[in-house]
Amino acid sequence: MRDNSMIFLDFASTTPVDPRVVETMLPFFDQIYGNSSSTHQFGQQAEKALEDSRQTVAELIGASPREVVFTSCGSESDNLALRGVAFAERNQRGASHILISPVEHHAVSNTALQLQELHGFEVEFLHVDQYGIVDPDEVTRRIRPDTAIVSVIHANNEIGTINPIGVIGEICRARGVRFHTDSVQGAAHLPINVNDLNVDLISIGAHKFYGPKGVGVLFVREGTPIYPTQTGGGQEYNLRAGTHNTPYIVGMAKAFELAQVNHEERHHKYIQMRDQIIEQVLATVPDSKVTGHPTIRLPNHASFVFKNVDGNTLLMMLDAAGYACSSGSACKTGDPEPSDVLTSLGLSREWALGSLRLTLGQTTKLRDIEGFLETLPTLVSQIRELVPQ
Ligand SMILES: *Cc1c(COP(=O)(O)O)cnc(C)c1O
Repeated sequence: MRDNSMIFLDFASTTPVDPRVVETMLPFFDQIYGNSSSTHQFGQQAEKALEDSRQTVAELIGASPREVVFTSCGSESDNLALRGVAFAERNQRGASHILISPVEHHAVSNTALQLQELHGFEVEFLHVDQYGIVDPDEVTRRIRPDTAIVSVIHANNEIGTINPIGVIGEICRARGVRFHTDSVQGAAHLPINVNDLNVDLISIGAHKFYGPKGVGVLFVREGTPIYPTQTGGGQEYNLRAGTHNTPYIVGMAKAFELAQVNHEERHHKYIQMRDQIIEQVLATVPDSKVTGHPTIRLPNHASFVFKNVDGNTLLMMLDAAGYACSSGSACKTGDPEPSDVLTSLGLSREWALGSLRLTLGQTTKLRDIEGFLETLPTLVSQIRELVPQ
């Protein structure tokens, strides 16, 4: 069992399910349990809940319900967007060039790379600046008539940086090229409107905003060429076969609603704590840097690199001291390679291996942060003493 005195500072990896969300989900496990594709009343009841959820999500993002596709997670949404559009665009107009940023989540980058290795697509990476921001002019320079899809992450999970999605989307639209953004982190904190963002496709995942794990959304703008990646029945407008996970979909719609209202208020609290963390870490830990943009970043997200510190050792020592943090990218245990995202910012190995990410959540208290800030400098210097410089 988890030690109750542990402080969770890793809300970008996942969040607990909001009790109001759990409550909304419960009847759909054992009472309204019909298959939404069934003709009888059990099925109709489930279908009603499903379509209500679709309507809720559609309204929140400024889309029509016809454009909301439910998936099993953020990763699946990314896969469906990239594979689905790449294959359709190649088949329909011979486009086989894929343009992505070097700071994508692996659900996007590894999908693009597999499309290159196994299916003959050509993948090109956009340059980012030292903060991990894609310059829209870069997109203008690199986009081609045979570009099948452009994908740029909305808010980065490792470094928190927010990209100018609306501007990039405008450029892609003017060239007639489909544009996807991975907003699995972004949707937890930023307003998501598909028209302001100028996107054709957007990926969202529920467990980053106090919804259940294992359910997501892909917005697909009407008229976007796309093939299903999971074939079978005709669910989700023939784009995603499989019996609907009604309780999770209902839960996601509820959680998304809660996430998209009042975020300004929550931002204020988060930004104060975030900036206090950033300021104090830089002041108390020698040879430390913030990763990502200092202000154009997620409100709850602080990330650092420490020179000549093994990030995994630091995470283990923090865990032992009662703080659950992350290095930013998914489990890298036993992997001595620095993250692609950090190296794309131009950080050398001796810096990039020492990364630390703190992400705040609804239950984070100021005193948790203060305790953490007291502990961190000692742990970092202990690690540096272990290894002669
Ligand atoms: C968490 C995350 C994903 C993957 O979502 P899952 O629902 O866990 O599959 C994709 N992209 C980003 C930016 C994420 O933070």
